[in-house]
Amino acid sequence: MTVGSRVTGLAPGDLAVLTVRRPCPHDRCGPCRKGRQDFCITGDFTERGIKGAHGYMTEFVVDDERYIVKVPKELREVAVLIEPLTVAEKAAEQARVLVQRLPGDLKDDPSSLSAVVLGAGPIGCWAR
Ligand SMILES: [Zn+2]
Repeated sequence: MTVGSRVTGLAPGDLAVLTVRRPCPHDRCGPCRKGRQDFCITGDFTERGIKGAHGYMTEFVVDDERYIVKVPKELREVAVLIEPLTVAEKAAEQARVLVQRLPGDLKDDPSSLSAVVLGAGPIGCWAR
């Protein structure tokens, strides 16, 4: 890996995983303007290798630092799973937010904390 002169969080030799979704261009899209393009409200985002942008089936990639996640060297063998793990983690985060909206007697009941998240494929399934 080589890095540009303004890159601060990565260095040659670092392991890294690149994210796929890029924000839409619309000023009215608050989530994209705040770096949360996973919640884009316009649908005009791009996703590398999925929607409107080339993917990573190449030997070399150049990308903006903000879309690159540094990976600890100890995770080298499983780092490829980071991107799908983020999808599952987002589903779990959203489930936790929803659980907080339950009345106290349901929120504190472990049997009420089971969930299945649909729409993210098998990696989006989560249950407790
Ligand atoms: Zn957007």
